[in-house]
Amino acid sequence: MVGDVPVGGDAPVSVQSMTTTLTADVNATLQQIAELTASGCQIVRVAVPSQDDADALPAIARKSQIPVIADIHFQPKYVFAAIDAGCAAVRVNPGNIKKFDDKVGEIARAAKDAGVPIRIGVNAGSLDKRLLEKYGKATAEALVESALWECSLFEEHDFRDIKISVKHNDPVVMINAYRQLAARCDYPLHLGVTEAGPAFQGTIKSAVAFGALLAEGIGDTIRVSLSAPPVEEVKVGIQILESLNLRERGLEIVSCPSCGRAQVDVYSLADEVTAALKDFPVPLRVAVMGCVVNGPGEAREADLGVASGNGKGQIFVKGEVVKTVPESQIVETLIEEAVRIAEEMGVD
Ligand code: SF4
Repeated sequence: MVGDVPVGGDAPVSVQSMTTTLTADVNATLQQIAELTASGCQIVRVAVPSQDDADALPAIARKSQIPVIADIHFQPKYVFAAIDAGCAAVRVNPGNIKKFDDKVGEIARAAKDAGVPIRIGVNAGSLDKRLLEKYGKATAEALVESALWECSLFEEHDFRDIKISVKHNDPVVMINAYRQLAARCDYPLHLGVTEAGPAFQGTIKSAVAFGALLAEGIGDTIRVSLSAPPVEEVKVGIQILESLNLRERGLEIVSCPSCGRAQVDVYSLADEVTAALKDFPVPLRVAVMGCVVNGPGEAREADLGVASGNGKGQIFVKGEVVKTVPESQIVETLIEEAVRIAEEMGVD
């Protein structure tokens, strides 16, 4: 458990992110956590590089609506501070664990007494020097060896409330590392492609890597890393899980790419329908199709759909054509029908 969020076993895969504010700025951090919570984030991590940040943890942990994980490098004293502050978990980095060596027993005892799990967070960019020398670079094998070695340090103190991440910026290495790790231990796994890049590239890398692993049943919680506001990470994470049917889909737009047969502006139509229904309170699959070739078939399969032709749109609801409207009325008609579907389901 990370606070009240189960991680591992048969628990649903959870979505997490990390704040970008100075943790010591309690108000700004809580504001960002509130935004993340509203966007569907289930667990949030905050960086603790200084004493001021450690001092802010009690207020943040107390007021956050979702479990807070303290991210700690170098300073064991902040681990104790995070546990005392009521943080739901602590992340430590094996690249820095040597400094923790004589403290591992103490950390294990404190974490165990408080029921606080620890994430062993291996990252290609801060891999233990010893393993860098042994493998030449941050290979999948090096990441896994590092993680399991650090787990063993905690296991020696009978501490097993652990989850692990082995992040790399190359999805191929990352996938390989998690596969090896899943074969070698039963700990819950936190998936991440580290330093994945700006929003577009990072989204693709994360979707490819998480998709491959989650489809094999590997991965218990995910963090998409983007050089973009953290709310965007959460949106991408949720979309990845919805795409794999690992959580109920919200709004799903089935729209065609358009082609020479299109008889409406499919791009605009799909954008307008997406914008109009993005916060709709019931899950909907909406087909937006440019012509009558595949249009009626897809529209029929969706909760709601339009197949366009001759400047008009055939509107489908649950497989039946309910009306045909001029192109200019397609969006408003789809919204009216969506509202009707929600009312029938008893949702305002
Ligand atoms: Fe082209 Fe029609 Fe298919 Fe859209 S539905 S891609 S317009 S053939």
